[in-house]
Amino acid sequence: MLGALGRADARARGWVRAHDLQVYVWAVCATGLVLCVSLAWRLAVDPAPPVDAWRLALVAGLALGADRSLLEIRFGADNESFTWAEMCVVLGLFLVPLPELVCLNTAGVLVHHLLRRTARLKALFNAAAFGLGTAVAGAVLSLVTAGSGATEAPRFVLGLVLAALAFSAWNGATVTGAVALAGRAPFGSIYGKGLLLRTLVCLGNTTAGVAVVVMVQWSRPSVLVLPPLLLLLFMSYRGYLRAMHERDTWQQLERASRELNQLDEVAVATAAIVRAAQLLQADVVQVTVENEHGPVTSYVGDANGLSRTSDPGAIDGPLEAQLMLYVAPLEAPHGRIGVLRIGFRRTVTLSKREQQVLKTFAHAVSTTLQNARLYAEMRQHAEAKAYEAAHDPLTGLGNRALLHDRAELALEASSREGTQCALLIIDLDHFKEINDTLGHAAGDVFLREVGERLTAALPDADAVCRLGGDEYAVLLGGLQVAGAADQVAAALLDVLSEPVLFDGLRLSIEGSVGVACFPQDATTFSELLQRADVALYQAKESRGSFCHYRVDRDSSSLQRPAMAAELRTALAADDLVVHFQPQYDLHTGQVAGAECLVRWQHSQRGLLQPAEFIGVVEHSGLIRDFTLAVLDKGVAECARWFRAGRQLTVAVNLSARNLLDKQLPVDVAGVLARHGLPARQLVLEITETTTMIELDVVESVLGQLRGLGVQLSVDDFGTGYSSLAFLQRVQVNEVKIDRSFVSGLTSSASDRALVRATVQLAHSLGARCVGEGVETAEQYDALVALGCDLAQGYYLGRPKSADLVRAELGFTVPGLPAPRVDSDARHLRAVAT
Ligand code: C2E
Ligand code: CA
Ligand code: CA
Repeated sequence: MLGALGRADARARGWVRAHDLQVYVWAVCATGLVLCVSLAWRLAVDPAPPVDAWRLALVAGLALGADRSLLEIRFGADNESFTWAEMCVVLGLFLVPLPELVCLNTAGVLVHHLLRRTARLKALFNAAAFGLGTAVAGAVLSLVTAGSGATEAPRFVLGLVLAALAFSAWNGATVTGAVALAGRAPFGSIYGKGLLLRTLVCLGNTTAGVAVVVMVQWSRPSVLVLPPLLLLLFMSYRGYLRAMHERDTWQQLERASRELNQLDEVAVATAAIVRAAQLLQADVVQVTVENEHGPVTSYVGDANGLSRTSDPGAIDGPLEAQLMLYVAPLEAPHGRIGVLRIGFRRTVTLSKREQQVLKTFAHAVSTTLQNARLYAEMRQHAEAKAYEAAHDPLTGLGNRALLHDRAELALEASSREGTQCALLIIDLDHFKEINDTLGHAAGDVFLREVGERLTAALPDADAVCRLGGDEYAVLLGGLQVAGAADQVAAALLDVLSEPVLFDGLRLSIEGSVGVACFPQDATTFSELLQRADVALYQAKESRGSFCHYRVDRDSSSLQRPAMAAELRTALAADDLVVHFQPQYDLHTGQVAGAECLVRWQHSQRGLLQPAEFIGVVEHSGLIRDFTLAVLDKGVAECARWFRAGRQLTVAVNLSARNLLDKQLPVDVAGVLARHGLPARQLVLEITETTTMIELDVVESVLGQLRGLGVQLSVDDFGTGYSSLAFLQRVQVNEVKIDRSFVSGLTSSASDRALVRATVQLAHSLGARCVGEGVETAEQYDALVALGCDLAQGYYLGRPKSADLVRAELGFTVPGLPAPRVDSDARHLRAVAT
């Protein structure tokens, strides 16, 4: 029944020239040919008793149709033809002698295949195999019937049946041999495939053939029922075979669809290609994925897998030119998402069912492709979200969250490898001025430029992040020594110092860097961040520099909550003390007043400087009580001076939060009244950085204080942001030039220019100017030369206790201990005289 070499097609391609296969095919062809020719020659030279012409004609007709397929079926990748062969052989054996039958069958099958344009070698092979099979069948029949009359019913019928079975077995084996050689597969596995179906078809064919013979030979009239019987047989055959085939197809489709179930486009396309090639025996399969603008990607391959992925324009042309194509669109509810193309190197007509299979399969491909696309979109969306969550949109640098994640990893690696890990926090100076004066566009350019410079300077950094505003962070892992981080910090300041060009302006960036290292300075990320922050503030105090974290300068190294509680107790126990730093009138050389500076006489830690606890005070809700305590002490002392006939001012520092306290003017008035000090003797120092927030409240509080007659002073002038704007809105009596400018007076022309400008500005506003932090005689002289009004600093006198100041001023208060005069007094006298 396996009449054709068709089954060999799919597998034999590519191997057809393989040596073994060739030898085998040619051997079968040659044997068949030799047999046929020798029989024909014998008939010619030694004519046997003549055979009826109608018999010969009938057998020739049967032979022509013998290898015609009853049904062609694909089993997986294999193509099986089920034919009428056994029936034709049975009828032939009955109608004509064997030599004639072999010749007619060989010739008939050959002609049949040539008419069907089967490849010549294949046609020859099929014909030879058929002829040999016929000979084998004939031999079996004569063996069984030997010695009996040709028409002895039981033996003859048995002979025919066995002959048909032998033919089927022989033919199946011959073709399977070719397929096995072509596919390099074991003979047994191929022979076993479809064996049941083959046997069933063989039995059916044989039964039909034998039935015809029996009717014709022994019951002629019943021949009349033959046609409907044959028709019935044919129909039930077809129905059964179709059902099997159908089941096989749907099983394959189901398997294919299951295999398609991937979440990635390439995997879906690959599975689609392999499965489509197997399902439809295609030589090439192409899946083109499209979007609304047209083809996007094209995947091409065959039953063995994906062979290339490319831009579709490059493939369609050649593919269509070489192949016979079947095209199935891939549709989604919103429109076309691609095309599935099935290509054949030979002319193939897909049956209706195969077209249906293709359509159904394309539908499955569409669905999974859509799923893959949706999944990819979701994944992209999630990735974008994750990126957004970890990055700063302006600079593209990582953000705090990313820094956190990277730092956790870096700390882990550091502790594993025994290396150091450094966190550098960089803060730009004067960024707000750029933003305010040149606009946000300039600010953005600035921030981006800084980001680019940091990234370019530190390609190996574990993270370069923008923490917000003008603050950046750099994470360096795997350092052998902590000192390496300081070198990087210094180098970064250099990198930043290059001016930025904006609209033809050369803007200079300056920054401060705080450095902290793991495990030397901190053991966790949050500690590291906090320590680097502290170091940054230490660095900020000396503008444009970097600072490595020093625990001895860290006011926050104590636990804040604990400290706040301690402070509360300290306030109640009156553990706060105030020191006074004299201020000199530069026109007269006389002490004009003193700044009141707080200290904390801590029971365990000794005398604490304000830097160590002011931050805690400001964030603890204690600020009002604290300020009033200091104010009370300062005003009390000033009142003593006043009562002793010294009309000196006392300057008390206020925190930003005090200015938001509407109660402050009332409190101040109360303190002044309690100590009987005229309001004009009190100077309240406000830092300009605090003055921008809630300006209305601040203005109202400051206005009321002025109304009391208290003097206002702007502290640390030049280090804040919108000094000038503030000075225009709030009337002040004094401007204190920050000590960082005073220290640069004799060395930096720009600092000198700034001090000069500040003095002039203060004067033009009707205010006096104080130079802070005077440490040398040269600075003192320079301030005098620039027309500054007052000065304070270590050169003139350090902050000291009230009784020391009193001693220097030359009076004592009855009931208070006599002071011990220290070396500062010499300055005081020297300057004063
Ligand atoms: P400030 O208001 O700028 O005070 C001047 C600081 O400079 C004082 O530090 C003073 O000792 C120091 N200083 C004075 N002359 C020189 C000098 O020639 N060279 C150097 N290097 N430093 C000099 P201190 O006492 O440590 O106070 C630090 C800061 O703490 C003050 O800066 C002020 O902002 C704050 N502060 C002090 N007392 C109070 C207070 O009662 N309330 C508030 N809110 N803040 C206070
Ligand atoms: Ca001050
Ligand atoms: Ca100051």
